[in-house]
Amino acid sequence: MNEQPRGLGKDLCGRVHAHTGAECYLPDTHYPRPHHSLTDETWHDGLCTQCAGSGILADALCPACNGTAFEPLTLPETYQAG
Ligand SMILES: [Zn+2]
Ligand SMILES: [Zn+2]
Repeated sequence: MNEQPRGLGKDLCGRVHAHTGAECYLPDTHYPRPHHSLTDETWHDGLCTQCAGSGILADALCPACNGTAFEPLTLPETYQAG
């Protein structure tokens, strides 16, 4: 079959965590389940509220999403001690 460049054009989510750089390897149909990286990191995110998805804030890289346009969301229920 037609081999495509890694991480491009595939039907994988590929979302990168704005803060840790972890990359989601789940199919892009995994919603609404959280993103999940090969390093076993899971997270939710949403369109960045600071830059509205442009990745740029005040002519600089948006600090909330690091230019990824998606801001990691904190879900309090997932917090676990230790
Ligand atoms: Zn994902
Ligand atoms: Zn942003």
